[in-house]
Amino acid sequence: MTDEQAQGVFLLEHLSDGIIRILERHVDPWLRANIWLIPGRDRSLLIDSGMGLWPLQSYIQGLVEKPVLCLSTHCHYDHAGGAYEFNERLSHPSEAEILKHPSRENVLINRFVGADTVKILAEDGYRAETYCIRPCPPSRPVDEGDVIDLGDRLFRVVHLPGHSPGSIGVWEEHTGILFSGDAVYDGELYDDYYHSSPEAYQETMRRMIEMPLDTIHPGHYASFGRPRFKDIAEDYLAGRRSPTCPASAGKS
Ligand SMILES: [Zn+2]
Repeated sequence: MTDEQAQGVFLLEHLSDGIIRILERHVDPWLRANIWLIPGRDRSLLIDSGMGLWPLQSYIQGLVEKPVLCLSTHCHYDHAGGAYEFNERLSHPSEAEILKHPSRENVLINRFVGADTVKILAEDGYRAETYCIRPCPPSRPVDEGDVIDLGDRLFRVVHLPGHSPGSIGVWEEHTGILFSGDAVYDGELYDDYYHSSPEAYQETMRRMIEMPLDTIHPGHYASFGRPRFKDIAEDYLAGRRSPTCPASAGKS
């Protein structure tokens, strides 16, 4: 695939604070994850990498010249699929084994990917029934408090377990920006996977409420500010946003 073709499969949006949001055009909007790019002076940070069906690395290097760190907020197929293309891969050590040996079960493909998930045949041989992500164990495991230094911007890793055991967020203190992965987004919040923990998820939500958050760039759907975050967090803690609760907010 040429770079021009690659540009056709990714949608790009410039947000404030120099942040770029990238989406996979042909993935069902309900399921597709946000890919975040933060260009830095010495290196750039890519947060999540989509399903891995299209050449992401060459597309990103067409946007930023500096070396790219590819951080996976967690191991699920829609977030870690493209990480295999990058030499520097950051993720939480508790999901390293899954990323080393991904299967349709352990990265949740069987639960979510169907015939309509991807609107075109992404590449020769892609079939919804056999698709799996490629192995992408972390080259640099990261955990709570670890610093990611882009030269002119400093981010910290926060461990946000619950949705999955190794879910992590990326936090910039002076702007109050949090890249939350699937710890929070404005939709139904999943805490019923084989490796989810509703108790840990609640603890994570309470912790985030205490953080001085200004803007959240989530794993899915649009970004939001603190007031909306508080509504979502309170909804979740009241049992109104998880799949097991009849009062769930539902799919968005
Ligand atoms: Zn997930």
